[in-house]
Amino acid sequence: TAPVIAIDGPSASGKGTVAERVARALGFHYLDSGALYRLVALAAQRGGIALDDVPGLARTAGAMQIEFREGRAWLSGEDVSEALRAEAVGVAASRVAAAPEVRACLLDRQRGFRAPPGLVADGRDMGSVVFPDAALKVFLTAGVEIRAQRRHKQLMEKGMYAKMPDVVEELRQRDDRDMKRTVAPLKHYPDAVFLDTTAISVDEAVASVLAEWRN
Ligand code: C5P
Repeated sequence: TAPVIAIDGPSASGKGTVAERVARALGFHYLDSGALYRLVALAAQRGGIALDDVPGLARTAGAMQIEFREGRAWLSGEDVSEALRAEAVGVAASRVAAAPEVRACLLDRQRGFRAPPGLVADGRDMGSVVFPDAALKVFLTAGVEIRAQRRHKQLMEKGMYAKMPDVVEELRQRDDRDMKRTVAPLKHYPDAVFLDTTAISVDEAVASVLAEWRN
C-alpha cells in the first residue's frame, strides 16, 4: 500500500499549509480531513439535519456526494470551497466531529484517499486513528499567540473584524475542548515527530518535514 505522512496538530498551527506543500513537493495526494467534517456540517445544514441528530449526521456523512478537484471541494456537484471556510461551518464541524458515529462513517472515506505514490493527511487523528501505520507522523504546533495572529490575519483578509484578545481566547477554548474531548482528543503521541513552528517560517517547516521523510 502507498505510504502515508500524517500531520496532526491544533487549530491554526499552519499544518494545512505545510501538509499541502509537502504533498506538492513529493507529488503525493493530499487529504484535508477538516474539510470532510466541514462538508458533513454543510450537507447537514442544507439537508435540514439538526446538529444534535446524530443518526441523521451519520447518514449524511455516509451518503454525501463529495469530490476534491483542483484544490477545490464539491458537494453534490456544486463548488462549496468558499462556503466551507465560513466560521459558522467550522464551529458546526467541530460539533459534528464530536460524534463517534460520524467519525466512524468518515473512516473509510479518509482511507480511500490513500493511493500511489503516497498521501499526506492533515488532521488531528491522522496518525493515531485513521492511519496508525503512517510511515511518518508529525505533530505540528505553535504557541497560541502566533496561531491567534495567523487566524486574525485570515479573518481580516476575509473582511471579518475580530479583536486579537478575543481570537486568543477563542483558540485557548478550542484547544481545551479538543484536548479534553473523549473521541479523538488532540494529543501529541509518542511515535510522532514534534515540530514547533512558533519561531520558524513555513519554508523551514516544510523543509524539516521533507528532511524527516528522507531520513
Ligand atoms: O481543521 P478544520 O478547522 O478545517 O477542522 C474543522 C473541525 O473539524 C475541527 O474544529 C475539529 O473539531 C474537526 N476535525 C476533527 N478531526 C479531524 C479534522 C477536523 O475532529 N481529523
